[in-house]
Amino acid sequence: MSAPLHRRKPSRRLMALIGVASLAAAGLAVVPLTTGAGAAAVDLAHAALPADDGWAATGSGTTGGQTADTAHTFTVSTRAQLAKALKAGPIGAPRIIQVKGVVDANTDDSGKTLGCADYAAGTGYSLSAYLKAYDPATWGRGKLPTGQQESARDAAQDRQAARVVLTVPSRTTIVGVPGSGAAIVGGSLQVKNADNVIIRNLNLTDTRDCFPQWDPTDGSTGNWNSQYDAVTVRGSTHVWADHNTFGDGPHYDRANPSYFGREYQVHDGALDITNASDLVTVEYNRFANHDKTMLIGSSDKDTRLRVTLHHNVFQGIVQRAPLARVGQIHLYDNYYDTATLNNYTHGYSVNARAKAQVVAQNNYWALSGDRKASQLLSGDGTGSVAGSGNLVNGTVTDLVAAYNAEHSAKKIKTSVNWTPKLTAGLEPAAGLPAALAKKAGAGVLTAAGGTS
Ligand code: CA
Ligand code: CA
Repeated sequence: MSAPLHRRKPSRRLMALIGVASLAAAGLAVVPLTTGAGAAAVDLAHAALPADDGWAATGSGTTGGQTADTAHTFTVSTRAQLAKALKAGPIGAPRIIQVKGVVDANTDDSGKTLGCADYAAGTGYSLSAYLKAYDPATWGRGKLPTGQQESARDAAQDRQAARVVLTVPSRTTIVGVPGSGAAIVGGSLQVKNADNVIIRNLNLTDTRDCFPQWDPTDGSTGNWNSQYDAVTVRGSTHVWADHNTFGDGPHYDRANPSYFGREYQVHDGALDITNASDLVTVEYNRFANHDKTMLIGSSDKDTRLRVTLHHNVFQGIVQRAPLARVGQIHLYDNYYDTATLNNYTHGYSVNARAKAQVVAQNNYWALSGDRKASQLLSGDGTGSVAGSGNLVNGTVTDLVAAYNAEHSAKKIKTSVNWTPKLTAGLEPAAGLPAALAKKAGAGVLTAAGGTS
C-alpha cells in the first residue's frame, strides 16, 4: 500500500543538509520533496506537517521540534526522562523527544509503579468514606460535595496529576521510535497555550483518574466525572497529531462499578481540543475502546477551533467522534465502525452543536445491524454539517437527511460558511476500510519517515 504523496516544503534542516545557497548559486531551483515510496524524505523525528495537510498547515505550518539542536534532542524510556525532556530549558526552544518503548506515567522518579492507594496515602481519602459523605440520600442533590472527604479526594487527585500530567511546550515533536512499541501508558499530554507541536507514532492508552468526583448537579441524575484526556490541546495552535493509537485498554469501562446509580467513570477524553485552540490536524490515528472520544470546544462559548480530521479510524467508540462546537471543522476520509467492541456500544459518531461548521466529506461508516444511518449524527439544532461522498456500508448516504427525517426538532443545518482548501490526500471513501486497516495508528511509520 503506497502512502499518499504529500507535497512538502523543504525543511530547514534539509535545506541546510543540501546547501540551499550552493544550489541557488548554481542556478538550480529547490524542488519540493515528497514523502512516500522512493522519496528522499527527512527522517521521522525531524519531519514537518506536509503542505496543505489540514488546518495545521496554515501560515507558517507545523514543524514541531524540527530544528532542535543536539542538547534538545532526547530519547526517553521512563516517565522521569520524559518529564525532564519536556522541561529542559529554555521553554520554547525546539525539542525532539523520541519515546522508546513503554513509558508508564504512574511511576515515581525511581521508576516504581504508583497505584491509587499510593496517591491517596496521607490524604485521609477513602472511597467508602466519600460514598458515605455524599450519598444523595443524606447529602442531597442540590450542591457539589464539600468538606473533609472532598478536600481529601482533591488532594489525592492533585498527587496523581503531578505524575500523569505532562505539559508539552511550544516547538516540540514527541514521536515514538519505530519498532520499539512506543507508548505512554496512563499519561495525559497537555498542550496548553503552546504553538507548533507534533505528536506522532505513539500508543496513548489507559489514561485513568483514580479519584473521580461526584457531581449531583450534572444532569438529572448526577455524574461521576474524571480528569485526564490522553491528549489535551488547550489554548494552542498549529498542532499535528498523526499515527497514534488511543484507547482505554486494558481497563475497559465495563469494569467500572456503579455508585449512586451512575457509572463510576474513570476516563475522560481521548483527544480533546478546547479553549480557543486553532489550526489542528488530526490524521491517521486509531481511536478504539473509548466513550468520550474527542471534544472540539469545551463550552458553547468557546472560540476559533479550526480542526481537520482525516484518515482516522474509530472503532468501539461510544460518542464524540468528534463533538464539534463553534469552529470550521473538516472531516474527510475517516473510517467509522459502529459495531460494539469490548462492551463499548455506539451512541452517535459526529455531534455538531454551538453553530459548528462541519464539512464531512468521503467518510466511510461500517454500520452494524443494531444501528441506523439516522444515528450517526447528533446536534443541538444550531450546528451545520455539509459535504458529500459519505458512504454507509458502501452506499452513498446523506447523513443529515437521514438524521433530520427522524427528528422533528433541532434539525441539523446543511449550509456552512466556508469551503475547505487544505485537503492533502483527499480520496473517495470506498477504499478506506482496507487501506486504513494497514495505514492508521501507531506502529506503521518507519524511521525513514514513510509508512511500512
Ligand atoms: Ca485539584
Ligand atoms: Ca477533557
